[in-house]
Amino acid sequence: MIQAVKTRFDPSQIICDEIINHHLAKAAADATARAKDAVAKALELKGLDSEEVAALLLCEDRDIQQEIFAAANRIKESIYGKRLVLFAPLYISNVCRNECLYCAFRADNKNIRRKTLSQREIASEVRSLTSAGQKRILLVASEGMFENWFDYILKSIETIYSVKEGRGEIRRLNVNIAPLTIDQFKRLKAAGIGTYQLFQESYHRPTYRRVHPKGPKSDYDNRIGAMDRAFQAGVDDVGLGVLFGLYDYRYEVLALLEHIAHLERRFGVGCHTISVPRIEPAADCDLAGNPPHPVSDEDFKKLVAILRLAVPYTGMIMSTRESPEMRAQTFALGVSQISAGSRTNPGGYGLRDLDAAAQFQLGDHRSLDEVIRDAASLGYVPSFCTACYRLGRTGGDFMDLAKPGLIKQFCLPNALLTFKEYLEDYAGPQTRRLGLELIQNSLGDIPTAARCVETSARLEKIEAGERDLYF
Ligand code: SAM
Ligand code: SF4
Repeated sequence: MIQAVKTRFDPSQIICDEIINHHLAKAAADATARAKDAVAKALELKGLDSEEVAALLLCEDRDIQQEIFAAANRIKESIYGKRLVLFAPLYISNVCRNECLYCAFRADNKNIRRKTLSQREIASEVRSLTSAGQKRILLVASEGMFENWFDYILKSIETIYSVKEGRGEIRRLNVNIAPLTIDQFKRLKAAGIGTYQLFQESYHRPTYRRVHPKGPKSDYDNRIGAMDRAFQAGVDDVGLGVLFGLYDYRYEVLALLEHIAHLERRFGVGCHTISVPRIEPAADCDLAGNPPHPVSDEDFKKLVAILRLAVPYTGMIMSTRESPEMRAQTFALGVSQISAGSRTNPGGYGLRDLDAAAQFQLGDHRSLDEVIRDAASLGYVPSFCTACYRLGRTGGDFMDLAKPGLIKQFCLPNALLTFKEYLEDYAGPQTRRLGLELIQNSLGDIPTAARCVETSARLEKIEAGERDLYF
């Protein structure tokens, strides 16, 4: 349950430049010693404060960097085990009134083909996704030019949930759409969404202003205040993110953690997920091809690991912007959710002939089955679980379960059950062979004998044709 609103809200107060710069300056003096202590503290799974995170971000010592990676791996294993939740983004429109300089959909880009999918086209896209085995969709939309844009979003959610074909259905729909009013958030919640995602892109005001010169998105405070309005409307699963490459990643990581701390103070719970997109080249966007603060692969892995240490119970999402190799490396550093088989152009799944423009270049072009096979061969258990959201275990209730270590009691069995469904209904022969072996080997990781026995019984029921079983 969301706790009572405790403080008066002024969105311009959420991020304070002076405080972030003070933490960075203070940590610079003896970052190595402080970082060593921070790694030790993080292993207690209680998270880190901003000064400790600043020390980790500034520490250049190679040995300590390896310790950060090892600690992130231990935390990930102990809280999440080998589970990886899978989803696919569904882009429904690329018609936009904003001018984000990094995005191919920006309003002034005259060289791309625009498309807003009709409800019939959305249903067709959903059928393509469910016939590959997807159960979780992230609905993504540009900020439409038309007056009834939000009604269109709501109608699209209804369409997506209504598609049922054979065993194919979407059981959880998350959304990544422009900031809403409290009243709109209430309607979004009533439509049955899982997580509401919105990335601040950059928390650094001058950078934000520069890269968002036009349109409603140029209002920094309206964007950063969106999660407060979501909570006020009862949407308690929210996802934050930064578009890495726009400004110094050290500043952005600290600011992101300040944003989470603000939500914790005000609503008693932070965010459900963090996304860590890095800027990819995009059609007719010079800034995307040449980001002002590029984040190297080493720094990217480091920031993922540091986030794992800082907020151990918050899910972390890795999209197909990254290459298969980078994705696999970050699984070990704390990533808990991944997209797979993605397209970022409206109509990209089934309606290929539409040829509408994609948002940015993908780094991972594998199919869902290939991603699953590769993840399973590394020992990761792919999961299509949607149980918590359907049973109302969201927001603070989810955190209450996660913190005493109960994730493994629920999430691993549910991962195995949904993975088994996938193997029965959609997998290629090689994936199936690998997957069945992995399920057998993973049963022993379920923490109690009773839950293990019950999971085995449910796996048999799935083999016999039952579906949608969960704890
Ligand atoms: N239009 C809405 C908005 O901007 O909030 C929501 C969806 S937008 C299509 C999803 C996210 O894509 C943006 O928040 C941004 O972080 C990311 N994005 C845009 N251009 C990108 C690029 N060139 N490379 C990587 N990610 C990008
Ligand atoms: Fe539009 Fe979102 Fe792209 Fe900005 S990032 S141009 S708001 S779709």
